Formats: sequence, C-alpha cells, structure tokens
Amino acid sequence: MTWEYDPAPESRAIANLKPTYRPFVDGEFVDGTGEPLKSVNPATEEVLAEVGTAGPTDVDKAVKAARRAYDKVWGRMPGSERAKYIFRIARMIAERARELAVLETLDNGKPIKESRDTDVPTASAHFFYHAGWADKLEYAGYGPDPRPLGVAGQVIPWNFPLLMAAWKIAPALACGNTVVLKPAETTPLTALVLAEIIQQAELPPGVVNIVPGAGDVGAELVNHPGVAKVAFTGSTEVGKLIQGSLAGTGKKLTLELGGKAANIVFDDAPLDQAVEGIVNGIFFNQGHVCCAGSRLLVQESIADELLDRLHERVATLRVGDPMDKNTDVGAINSRDQLSKIRELVTSGEQEGAQRWTSPCPLPEKGFFFAPTVFANVTQSMRIAREEIFGPVLSVLTFRTPDEALAKANNTPYGLSAGVWTEKGSRILWMADRLRAGVVWANTFNRFDPAAPFGGYQESGFGREGGRTGLEAYLDV
Ligand code: NAP
Ligand code: MG
Repeated sequence: MTWEYDPAPESRAIANLKPTYRPFVDGEFVDGTGEPLKSVNPATEEVLAEVGTAGPTDVDKAVKAARRAYDKVWGRMPGSERAKYIFRIARMIAERARELAVLETLDNGKPIKESRDTDVPTASAHFFYHAGWADKLEYAGYGPDPRPLGVAGQVIPWNFPLLMAAWKIAPALACGNTVVLKPAETTPLTALVLAEIIQQAELPPGVVNIVPGAGDVGAELVNHPGVAKVAFTGSTEVGKLIQGSLAGTGKKLTLELGGKAANIVFDDAPLDQAVEGIVNGIFFNQGHVCCAGSRLLVQESIADELLDRLHERVATLRVGDPMDKNTDVGAINSRDQLSKIRELVTSGEQEGAQRWTSPCPLPEKGFFFAPTVFANVTQSMRIAREEIFGPVLSVLTFRTPDEALAKANNTPYGLSAGVWTEKGSRILWMADRLRAGVVWANTFNRFDPAAPFGGYQESGFGREGGRTGLEAYLDV
C-alpha cells in the first residue's frame, strides 16, 4: 500500500509577481523599444506578466553602457573591491531565495522542490564561489596579472533561467568584465529580479545589463561589434549559427549546447541506488537538462530486473502542479517543447521501440507529459540519437565494457555520462575513454560551482565553473 499525499501548495503571493517587467540598461529599468512579450505559466497556460523587450537600439545602448562601465570603473577596480559586490549579490539571492524559487516555478513550470533546493541555492553558490576568485586571479594559473576581455554578451536558455544567469554573470564579473545578458523568451522573470538585486547591491550602472526578447535580440547582441566575448547556452543549431557569424571577428566564444548522455549500468551495480540515479538523471527538471541521462545502457544480464524496478519506481513519481511541494515532475516549459517531445515519442513507436508510460494522472490544463521509458531501442532510432529534452528515457543493452563504451560514444554530442558499478578500476577505465565533459560515477546530475562543466563535439566547447571556467573570461 502506498500513502496518498494531501496537496501541499506553496503560496503564489511569495513571488511578488508584478504586472510588468522591463529591460535593465545602464543601471535603470527602461521601456524597451521591442514588442512586449507575455510570459506564461506553462502549468496553467495563464499569462503571468507582460515583459518589455529590447530593440536593436536598446541592445546598442546596453553594450555601450557596459563598455563605459568597463573602461571607467569595473575593469580598473581592484579584485578585492569587485568581490564585495559579488558577495553582496550572493547574499541577496539567498535572502530572497523563497521569492525567487516561487517565481521560477511559476514562469518555468519546474517543481517548487527543485527551484527551492537546486536552482536558487546553486545560483547563490555560484556568486559566492566566484566572489572568492576576484582577488586571487593571479593564482589561477593564467599568468601574474590576467586581464579581463571587456564586454561579455551572454545568451541563455529556459531550462534553468536564474541558475544559467548566475553561471554566466558571476565568472564574468569576478574576472573584471561587464555584461549584457539575454534571458530566454519564455522565462525572463527571474533574470529581471536578479537585475533588481544587482541594482540594490549598488553595482555601478552598466556593469550588468539584462535585455529580454526573442532570438533576434540574442543575434543582435552576439553580433554587436562592442562585444568582446560571447557565452551561449542553448541548442546546437543556434550554437552553430553563432559560431559561423562570429568567425573572423576575434571575439572569444564559449558554447554550451545539447547532449544525449549515456547512463551506463553494469551488472554489479547496486540496483536500487542505480534506479534512483536513473530517475534523477532523466526526470529531474522534466528532462529539460542538457546533460540529462537520456540513454540508459544496461548490461544485458540485469536488463529485465532493472527495467521492472525502474517501471515500479517511475510509476510512483507525482506529476502535476509544480507549486505543490510533493510534485516530482512539473510542466513542460512550452507548447512548442511539448510538441517536439510528442513528435519524437511517436517516431520511437513507429521505429519499433517498446513504449512504457507511467499511468499517472495528468492535469487537464497546462503542458504535461507523463514519464516514459522506451525499451528495445537500437542505436539508429531517432530516440537514441536526437535530444528529446523531455521526460523520456531510451534503454539500450550491452554485454561487455567495450560494447558499452562504443555505444556510449556513438553520438555527435559529448556533454556528460554516468557509470554505475561496484568496481573502482572499471569507473576509471570508463571515465578515461568516455568522450564526455563530465562523467559521474554512481551518481548523476551533480553540480558544484567549483567543478568545470562543458562539452565535446556538438555539445560545444569551453568550460564553465571552477578554475578552468575563469579562462573564458580572461585574456589568455
Ligand atoms: P535555443 O533555441 O538555442 O535558445 C537558447 C537561447 O538563444 C535563447 O535565449 C534564444 O532566444 C536564443 N536565440 C535563439 N536564436 C538565436 C540566434 N540566432 N542568435 C542568438 N541567440 C538566439 O535553445 P532552447 O530551445 O531555448 O534550449 C534548449 C536547448 O539548449 C537544448 O538543446 C539544450 O540541450 C540546450 N542547453 C544546453 C545547455 C548546456 O549547458 N550545454 C544548458 C541548457 C540547455 P529565445 O528564448 O527567444 O528562443
Ligand atoms: Mg514562462
């Protein structure tokens, strides 16, 4: 018998939702010259707020303000002084953690327990960590006096809106650069509250600018001649476009793109623990995770048993209202993303994979997709090759470590991988040979500001986080 949970809804009032949000340029909130957009709660399809967007003139003003702030103040300020501002941002995020978590959940659709326990604390941790570097850059291994680059133009996706903003802004500021950041069209709200925090932390005007809008605003920003460094997180498709348009400009570029990670379970792995790791690997954040463990590779001898345990566990996941503290899987971020998931799942059925979908009830309104596991997947199927970016797992089997490795590396991507085994030597053997930026052993989806993160091949290049991540923001 399983326990039924009563609803435990978080209060929406905590989000301090405002009817309108505006771009943040040169230390002020301004009326953008772009067409305003409406940000929607994907769990209810209601409009949350109207958001002013930046037109080309606003992007130009933001880049020029960032350049002035760089030349006059931020680029010359001693690291120990910059650190004080960055620490202040970290503390203010922590102070407003609950408000930010509720707002993130409303705007993005992710479960409140994730925005509360992962997104917001990790965002604050990124500012804390990088504040510590600001006055120690000469010890980072990039020479005795590493210099910043100038204005960083940064474009982020919708899956971790506040956390991605923190990943981008914190190292840029720590190294002495100024920033113009474009949040994703469907999730601009928490970045604009971060702008409010930055204003209240009294950062000099122009050091950070936030320009909401759609892809055209992103393109305007990355192509602006005043930008010295571009940092992009998003799809491989747009990453390629940006790399093409930046070729020959001398701008420094880092790309964090898609993934199709292998999560590999050997026959000696602790199975219950592995099941938890598989669930966390693919159903965390509705599978809207670039490093999601979306391809499960199971050793053949334990495949049936593992699948049985997995189905049993996945059937207990509570799918629904993201504001409910008991919810495990929330809403798909947008109608477009939901259709993309449905299309790929249909292709999996048509190509002959065996579909299992959780019998969980789904809300009538909003964008939801029940957790789904495909067995009998072969490497040529689209669901084994393409990023689904949703709560859908593809299961393949293998017999030997060599076969596991060959299958794991048979992808154009290379962002992350997981290995489950009792054997330490096998973990090291696999980690050496897996072409992935991050390899987790007996765990999955662990993030820490001190650990570098980034991809191989079509997952992009450059690293974010840790000492290694500083390089992208220094003239080295
Ligand atoms: P996307 O379409 O590439 O969008 C990412 C960002 O780029 C958004 O802010 C988007 O604006 C903007 N953009 C779109 N076209 C642009 C252009 N031509 N020039 C400059 N900017 C442009 O990706 P998405 O669908 O939002 O996000 C999902 C993808 O991101 C997945 O493939 C996922 O794997 C990847 N991702 C990777 C990482 C990583 O760290 N490697 C992390 C998270 C997500 P709009 O919001 O208006 O579209
Ligand atoms: Mg939204």
